[in-house]
Amino acid sequence: MTGTGTSSVGRSAELFARAEQVVPGGVNSPVRAFRSVGGTPRFMVAGSGPWLTDADGHRYVDLVSSWGPMILGHAHPAVVEAVREAASAGLSFGTPTGGEVDLAEELVRRVEPVEQVRLVNSGTEATMSAVRLARGFTGRSVVVKFAGCYHGHVDALLAEAGSGVATFGLPSTPGVTGAQATDTIVLPYNDLDGVAQVFAERGQDIACVITEAAAGNMGAVAPDDGFNAGLKRLCQAHGALLIIDEVMTGFRVSSAGWYGLEGVAGDLYCFGKVMSGGLPAAAFGGRADVMAQLAPAGPVYQAGTLAGNPVAVAAGLTTLRHATPEVYTALDANADRLHGLFTDALTEAGVVHTIQRAGSLISIRFAEGVGRDYDDMRAAETWRFPPFFHALLDHGVYAPPSVFEACFISAALDDDAFSVIADALPVAARAAAAATAPEAS
Ligand SMILES: *Cc1c(COP(=O)(O)O)cnc(C)c1O
Repeated sequence: MTGTGTSSVGRSAELFARAEQVVPGGVNSPVRAFRSVGGTPRFMVAGSGPWLTDADGHRYVDLVSSWGPMILGHAHPAVVEAVREAASAGLSFGTPTGGEVDLAEELVRRVEPVEQVRLVNSGTEATMSAVRLARGFTGRSVVVKFAGCYHGHVDALLAEAGSGVATFGLPSTPGVTGAQATDTIVLPYNDLDGVAQVFAERGQDIACVITEAAAGNMGAVAPDDGFNAGLKRLCQAHGALLIIDEVMTGFRVSSAGWYGLEGVAGDLYCFGKVMSGGLPAAAFGGRADVMAQLAPAGPVYQAGTLAGNPVAVAAGLTTLRHATPEVYTALDANADRLHGLFTDALTEAGVVHTIQRAGSLISIRFAEGVGRDYDDMRAAETWRFPPFFHALLDHGVYAPPSVFEACFISAALDDDAFSVIADALPVAARAAAAATAPEAS
């Protein structure tokens, strides 16, 4: 059956209660806990194509796609077969394997500025290692990042800042030291003048600028025309490296990621999500002269017991090999179709909104006009999202459980899936319209 009604989540509730005893907050990654939308996180037991099935037997159209990786849909037969085959041949050797070379070649072939890659286990490791390499290569310590961009939970990159042109980072989470945070400068996204000013003041100290190729972790926020190119120009002029984080956009928004849409070459790139095929795998790479500084070729240390794991590599490589031009056409078409359904339902219900797009990344901003930075995205009527989310969930659509996360489309979404979405959205839009702002405290 499709559609749940909140009364029938007994198995998920039971599992969550057990989880809370032995796992902090009951989850292994915070957004999964539904804190910002309330209610019981659904424990999934199976996925097939565009569908997820939870522990109580409810089926949902999946608009999360495991936060990105599942562009082909769940349990794609070729990927499952490749994983089965790789697993049968041994789970891990701690030696080089041919599959790693195939995957590295595939990444290098797809993204022209990437001459060499190193495989790691998560996007966090990729960004952490890229920043270390940039510091090692330049002999400088300062990292510039943008508010609202997420690069995994790397200490130096969690540093946050309030609004302002050039705020020096303060630790925004306990456990990140002041020293780590003061080496991080946080600037507003899409503010090239702010970046130019910081380079004018501290250019000699700046090792790198790290940016999401297109922002997808504050909702979808595309870079303004010329923003990434401007970052590139400033980095080059001051001898800093530009790290383009394509963990989310890579191999999703086009066969060559955001680079394929925009063509601005970074010095280093970070990849994850889609290239993992749904198992733990990620990568960083870029200019050969920079990558040559990595151990054992060079002095910058970086390593991993399970890096290049043969089963994960098989999942990633097979996913990429099946991510044909037709798949990217389907991803774009499905994003456009969802966009149209969002617009129609919210307009019909009289909800003020803007659909944010960055390629096939898509999210809803409950406000007039396109949001260009984190302040814009936070200033929207975000309180309209929880009832919207829960109405979708109750009617069989699993959207990301946070207003600051983009929807991840899969190529597997078909007419059946879209008809469930089309039926659910008007109810969700009316719930958003009926939402009331929280009392100012
Ligand atoms: C998801 C994400 C990361 C972190 O990847 P993990 O595999 O979760 O560590 C880094 N950067 C961006 C842009 C992401 O979306």
